[in-house]
Amino acid sequence: MAKLMPGLERRLRREIAGDVLFDHFSRGRYATDASHYQMMPVGVVVPRTIDEAERAIALADQEGASVLARGGGTSQCGQTVNESLVIDCSKYLNHVIELDVAGKRCVVEPGIVLDDLNRLLKQHGLWFPVDVSTASRATIGGMAGNNSCGGRSLRYGTMRDNVLSIDASLADGTRAHFGRADSDLSDIPESSPLKPLARDLLALGAREAAEVEARFPKVQRRVGGYNLDALVPGRNDLNLAHILVGSEGTLAFTTKVELKLWPMLGRRAVGACHFGSFYEAMNAAQHLVKLGPIAVELVDRTMIELARDIAMFRPTLDAFVRGTPDALLLVEFDAGEEENRIRLARLHETLGDLGFGWDKPGAKWGGVVDVLDPALQTAVAELRASGLNVMMSMKEQGKPISFVEDCAVPLEHLADYTARLTDIFSKHGTRGTWYAHASVGCLHVRPVLNLRQEKDAQAMRAIAEEAFAMVREYKGSHSGEHGDGILRSEFHEAMFGKRLVHAFEEVKDRFDREQLFNPGKIVRAPKFDDREKFRYAPGYHAEEFAPALDWSEYSGGASGFQGAVEMCNNNGACRNHVGNVMCPSYRVTLDERDVTRGRANSLRLAISGQLGPHALTSDEMAETMKLCVSCKGCRRECPTGVDMARMKIEVQAARTAKYGYSPGSVLVGWLPRYAPYAARMPWLLNMRDALPGMAKLSEWIFGFSAKRSLPKWRKNVFREPLTPSWPNFIRASGAGETASDGLDARVKSAHEDQKEVVLFADTFNRYFERENIDAAVSVLQAAGYRVHFARAGEGTRPLCCGRTFLSVGAVDEARREAERTLQALAPYIARGIPVVGLEPSCIFGFRDEIPALLRTADARRLASQSFLFEEFVARETAAGRMKLDLKPLAGKALLHGHCHQKAFGALSPVQQTLKLVPGLEVETVESSCCGMAGSFGYGADTIGVSLAMGELTLLPAVRAAEASTIVVADGTSCREQISYGAGREAVHVARVLAAAIHGSGTRI
Ligand SMILES: Cc1cc2nc3c(=O)[nH]c(=O)nc-3n(C[C@H](O)[C@H](O)[C@H](O)COP(=O)(O)OP(=O)(O)OC[C@H]3O[C@@H](n4cnc5c(N)ncnc54)[C@H](O)[C@@H]3O)c2cc1C
Ligand code: SF4
Ligand code: SF4
Repeated sequence: MAKLMPGLERRLRREIAGDVLFDHFSRGRYATDASHYQMMPVGVVVPRTIDEAERAIALADQEGASVLARGGGTSQCGQTVNESLVIDCSKYLNHVIELDVAGKRCVVEPGIVLDDLNRLLKQHGLWFPVDVSTASRATIGGMAGNNSCGGRSLRYGTMRDNVLSIDASLADGTRAHFGRADSDLSDIPESSPLKPLARDLLALGAREAAEVEARFPKVQRRVGGYNLDALVPGRNDLNLAHILVGSEGTLAFTTKVELKLWPMLGRRAVGACHFGSFYEAMNAAQHLVKLGPIAVELVDRTMIELARDIAMFRPTLDAFVRGTPDALLLVEFDAGEEENRIRLARLHETLGDLGFGWDKPGAKWGGVVDVLDPALQTAVAELRASGLNVMMSMKEQGKPISFVEDCAVPLEHLADYTARLTDIFSKHGTRGTWYAHASVGCLHVRPVLNLRQEKDAQAMRAIAEEAFAMVREYKGSHSGEHGDGILRSEFHEAMFGKRLVHAFEEVKDRFDREQLFNPGKIVRAPKFDDREKFRYAPGYHAEEFAPALDWSEYSGGASGFQGAVEMCNNNGACRNHVGNVMCPSYRVTLDERDVTRGRANSLRLAISGQLGPHALTSDEMAETMKLCVSCKGCRRECPTGVDMARMKIEVQAARTAKYGYSPGSVLVGWLPRYAPYAARMPWLLNMRDALPGMAKLSEWIFGFSAKRSLPKWRKNVFREPLTPSWPNFIRASGAGETASDGLDARVKSAHEDQKEVVLFADTFNRYFERENIDAAVSVLQAAGYRVHFARAGEGTRPLCCGRTFLSVGAVDEARREAERTLQALAPYIARGIPVVGLEPSCIFGFRDEIPALLRTADARRLASQSFLFEEFVARETAAGRMKLDLKPLAGKALLHGHCHQKAFGALSPVQQTLKLVPGLEVETVESSCCGMAGSFGYGADTIGVSLAMGELTLLPAVRAAEASTIVVADGTSCREQISYGAGREAVHVARVLAAAIHGSGTRI
């Protein structure tokens, strides 16, 4: 832990209205970036205004703390970790200050995220083209700090080429505007604080001009060191901002950035060049750039194979990858439609001229697959941009480590360079996966190492020294994209020479003699393999405990829980603001605590004892998990598959084992147990929302907000008839039967001549919305299916998936429910009868949590045989087994997907099912979680965030829908949120289908 600075904390709290975070958990969440380093900051300030940021810097200076500016914290070289006061610009300092559409320029605050800026520019036909892979969370301040480069840098250059000016606060508290200047500085007034500084910098540039010419690599991708080349005489484009670009927060604090904007890209053409040999692909790159592409991006075999195991990437690969290439080069053209076609044709010819063909064997196998569909192009680009994350999805303790990952060499040496580096890796007993920017000779590669081990730390040094020596041989750059940080700064002397390193130190001292800003980066850096600064420092280990769930697919302590937690590599994809699901609560609060990464970091520090004793069951941990709505968005969208919803169960189980259950969690968790009694006297429970004062009383006792009424209990709940009440209804005996014996004879004979399903009547639909079950039955029967209902036995309480128990950490109870349910369903599962359900969270519980709870073959079979109603309808229809005679329903359906539907990639079946209804136009709201998330939206302390989540997109979209529009939502909670937040009734898709059945008479 870095030193405590209570004096600084007190003063900041007094003087800053923004967030001041000095507790261990918060500091821990800011102790890492996307590198393998960890340094505990003294505290964190999240300022609301630039003035506040400047005040915080002044206070830090007075109290003897250094300052580390931070954006998304996605840097890979350790430049965004330090024992400093962290100033997080991403939450509040994220505005566009000025937009000059005609002049194609804008001025922004440093914390604005690139994708957010580009979304805003899009309506004006403009974009900012430094398209880093982390565009969804990288901030302009951080991008300028790192001199970031996008995949299309061949056309657009790096940040340095696109930053027009920077306003900054200097170490002495003065403000200065760094921008274009006359070479004699005559346009800067003598009174400006910048004048003497600029004069000194230019003098330094003049003095070092010859050395710069001799030692700076002549490749586009050189981002190491300070940009002394911007200061040498004779340039007619002197821009003083260029010295700040790439300075990694070591010289000044950026308060405003002026950016050069470009017209948006036109319709593009992508040729996916397939190669049978990686070496041949690398060799071909130099020829492909001659065709004038805007990007040539590499994806290698390992990445293709790893991506095939990730659900969200599999369909993309299937759509454009032919055979089993050793490498792909994705060649992108943006030259107008006609010219694109011509260049694509030339690309085919070029590969032919180079001797490649689909019919050739071995290394010369290959050819071009055209990718012309814009949606597929986007998916392919996303796959490429996720390269690192795909690699990081490896579950073993060794991980691909970044330290030689962005060297850049001239293109003619690319093939030899990659071959020799691969040899270096194997000499040290490891391997690497290659991807990224072949067009500019900057390939990403990370050898797999386990930095918990001294021997692998030593291998890291040996590989780095050999690799950088080789890069120098090719006159390349050891730092081609990600910057210096702790990782590369040590090697500047070998790359640039002693003299230039001394000049770098002079730059630093001229700006910041007292080492206020991010000390120890770029100059005077520690050894890059100082293990005390590693995230997994010597002595790091997870404390042993017996987890409640099965984590055995991961390695590490606590039966694999450690490995699951450590899957987070801090890349920050969960900080996305728009689209997809992950991470909905963060989108509302913009607090690092409330993002998947923040939670994973807190867990890692807690289980390794770095947050003090009993951190896992502490109140701080409960707070960290509080706004996780268990949407499972991260399970699918986190590129390394961090499954926080499951980890939250583990945390809650540990906490309840220690402290027991609150009255509120008993009421939520044990709902399936008391529901049969409640349904007998609904008036009693409904009094909560009928009698004045009762709601407030229940808020005090149970923590349910008095503002929101609870679901209405009813008497006519769904009950499986004792005798078949529908024409084809057959009831199974169920109880006690196993998969191999005692099958109900009636079920057996029915299965032989009929299409059958077993419908799972979940607790929510059974007690509160039986209309959905009735609707599903009528649709299935109309389609000729026999509908079974499994029961636990005559006179026993209904089945339940255990979801409510899991939501409060009652894992043993959930397991009991799961066992009962599985036992009742086993006879059907054994006979291959599909299990169909209506509530997404229950059915995905069958697929996800129940196998992890029970770990039996039957549980795994249940997982593979259970379907949501709409999945079943879509699947059976596609297979030609289901033909529904539906009448037209004119108008529109506005669909909101439950977050589990999205997390399991099961949204399209709802869309397909709705589209079966003639005349119905289907529009899907681009929404994340509705915000209700089971009991989350009822909580007195969470209802505000719950509604704010709904207000992000869902509720406004529902309010804007015409009265005749059918609002469709399959989740009970989502329907509740829509009803409360937008005053509209939403219906399950089964009811839409039931209403469309000819002659049904059912109304929506
Ligand atoms: C998976 C992955 C893919 C990546 N892909 C790319 C890529 O394609 N291209 C690329 O160039 N990089 C890439 N990176 C690296 C990184 O994402 C980029 O450099 C990104 O631009 C950093 O933005 P950030 O907001 O996270 O910066 P941070 O990490 O928060 O900060 C970066 C530096 O800027 C400084 N800084 C931040 N704000 C200020 C301020 N207000 N004043 C002064 N200094 C400030 C910080 O102190 C730090 O030194 C990738 C990283 C990951 C994890
Ligand atoms: S949780 Fe996943 S998406 Fe978020 S930072 Fe960690 S690895 Fe990246
Ligand atoms: S489950 Fe949902 S809310 Fe929780 S961390 Fe994952 S994405 Fe965020």
